[in-house]
Amino acid sequence: ETPPPPSRARAEIDLGALRANVRALRARVAPHVRVMAVVKADAYGHGAVRCARAALDAGASWLGTATPQEALALRAAGITDVPVLCWLWTPGDPWDAGIEAGLDMAVSGRWALDEVTAAARATGRTARIQLKADTGLGRNGCQPADWPALVAEALKAEKDGLVKVTGLWSHFACADEPGHPSIAAQLDVFRSMVEYAEKAGVDPEVRHIANSPATLTLPEAHFDLVRPGIAMYGVSPAPELGTPAELGLRPVMSLKAGVALVKEVPAGHGVSYGHHYVTGAETTLGLIPVGYADGVPRHASGRGPVLVDGRVRTVAGRVAMDQFVVDLGGDRPEPGTEAVLFGSGEHGEPTAQDWAEAADTIAYEIVTRIGARVPRVYL
Ligand code: PLP
Repeated sequence: ETPPPPSRARAEIDLGALRANVRALRARVAPHVRVMAVVKADAYGHGAVRCARAALDAGASWLGTATPQEALALRAAGITDVPVLCWLWTPGDPWDAGIEAGLDMAVSGRWALDEVTAAARATGRTARIQLKADTGLGRNGCQPADWPALVAEALKAEKDGLVKVTGLWSHFACADEPGHPSIAAQLDVFRSMVEYAEKAGVDPEVRHIANSPATLTLPEAHFDLVRPGIAMYGVSPAPELGTPAELGLRPVMSLKAGVALVKEVPAGHGVSYGHHYVTGAETTLGLIPVGYADGVPRHASGRGPVLVDGRVRTVAGRVAMDQFVVDLGGDRPEPGTEAVLFGSGEHGEPTAQDWAEAADTIAYEIVTRIGARVPRVYL
């Protein structure tokens, strides 16, 4: 990888911070509880293979992805000796490749069990499957009413040597709102669905339900394994739970670009499409060469914060596809001077959470949507 010129927009990925976060998460769970590093969506925009390796180095022992394609890419990159769970299957997906690659494949219902058993027959190998329960999220997963039939079918397939049920698991709806009544309700449903399956004869390696907020706030939800995503990237799952520093986490991604142009303009000069910003006095404008194609939210037009030369400036006018402008108020930084859109916040720079607030969204979306055009530079 040729490093980009220093003034080109780039996402710096601090793998040391990621490793420290995994160690911090490990320290929060009992020694027997395993940590699954969730690296879906290119590790929330941070780079799946590099982050998976760093997380494994730091004590994670499982990996998790949404799609089988993401999981197979990890295997193709040489990560062959750790279990990988992938949970978002669609009809016609490559179950056979998943079996050959030794993936743990989530099964939420009948069509998936049919496809995975057919693939097991065709490959002559046993598929590792994890039965997913909908304990109240109302998204993927098997409804409690349909659970006995799914468990019975899975046990039959297990007897035939087609599958091994390696896990029983679920996902929270409101774990980022401690005390929300759905949390206790989901835990109750999960315990009873696990108990039902185990009494029926399922002997899983792992039972799990905890995402980052549950890993951080809810020890009774840790079971055998936790599945942190956002916390591993050093971003707080919700501002109410605390800042990353308060949670013992270090932000992993910083988004930076060199100022591409500095110029003087008179008072009354419109800035960017639609002229939603007009200079109030003679001033200087700085051009920041990163835009909504790179994941800078257009919705943060007029609001997104950027640290330039020691001062936090605000996006002036609209964010465009490839660039936006800040009003430098007469300052004249050299072209190429570093502009930091977000980072750890330790040096006065904004954070991904600040951008989330400027764009009316969550910090997950800010880091995950940083585009493919922005090179990731690993520190
Ligand atoms: N487990 C599953 C099934 C998920 O879909 C996700 C992400 O949404 C996670 C775990 C990780 O969630 P978080 O990033 O909140 O830790």
